[in-house]
Amino acid sequence: MVRTMSGIQPTGDLHIGNYLGALVNWVELQRRYEAFFCVVDLHALTQRPEPAALQRRVREVAIGILASGVDPDRSTLFVQSHVPQHTELAWVLNCLVPLGDLNRMTQFKDKSAQQPENINAGLFTYPVLQAADIVLYRAERVPVGEDQEQHLELARETVRRFNHVYGDTFPEPQVVKSHAPRVMGLDGESKMSKSRNNEIGLFETAEETMHKLRSAKTDPARLRRTDPGNPQVCNVFAWHGFFSPAAQRAEIDAGCRSAALGCVDCKKALAQNLEQVKGPIRERAAALRAHPGRLDEILAAGAAKARAAAEATMTLVRERIGLRAPRGGGA
Ligand code: SF4
Repeated sequence: MVRTMSGIQPTGDLHIGNYLGALVNWVELQRRYEAFFCVVDLHALTQRPEPAALQRRVREVAIGILASGVDPDRSTLFVQSHVPQHTELAWVLNCLVPLGDLNRMTQFKDKSAQQPENINAGLFTYPVLQAADIVLYRAERVPVGEDQEQHLELARETVRRFNHVYGDTFPEPQVVKSHAPRVMGLDGESKMSKSRNNEIGLFETAEETMHKLRSAKTDPARLRRTDPGNPQVCNVFAWHGFFSPAAQRAEIDAGCRSAALGCVDCKKALAQNLEQVKGPIRERAAALRAHPGRLDEILAAGAAKARAAAEATMTLVRERIGLRAPRGGGA
């Protein structure tokens, strides 16, 4: 069965942007591929998180993945740092990737701008670790959002370079086309993100959701309740597109344009529809939190399976690059 690999960073509590942009897709991918899904805590270190917070977030993200429908009997779910081969392969690839290729990565520039006080080497070589994450499992299909396309191209180029220098070793990963939308935040201007403080949390209650929605940007030209609005320029309407049925969206569209519908009622309808999705996820997450041993078991089993696959790859890689284990043992 063809393999797929994808990771999610534990840099904050999961929000509906993560849900729509990654998790819904993962649930679908596990039906078509042998799936390796990973909480990429090593990547999160580039932001120097507080250690206790990092540990809590790793567990919460894993809980969110499972509560959203990733099935641990079907997919291999694990934490990146529990499989040390990721960093070993990243170093090998670091020694192959030209500096000029990394200099071209636009995400490095974006992230450096976001954390000017902490522009570390890990931020710069982040795409190499990402390439290692993929090729370690010999994944042939990788779901990527538009902001990750450049990194996947670097991974593909790295595979070509490795295969050229050391002989055919890795399959070239291909993009899995997904319909994952780009979900904008409450400000309506930038992508939803915890660091921008513009998110709607996946585990937030209906009341918390509505509280946040009150401040969500709508059609800026609709200054009074009696002004007709334009749903096409309203981010709240875009969210209706993800969570509300087509017939209700048509009613909202007409009500907004004729000014029969006010923004508060429009947001209340969205909050109700969001709760239809988030309520069951919140319940499943609560059940997992109530049995922490179950989560430990799932992550331990996932890590064991991932390590076995990773070690098979690394045995071949070490041999190809000339790092042989001494006779009589030693890894
Ligand atoms: Fe946006 Fe809804 Fe207000 Fe129209 S009624 S501007 S779609 S929030």
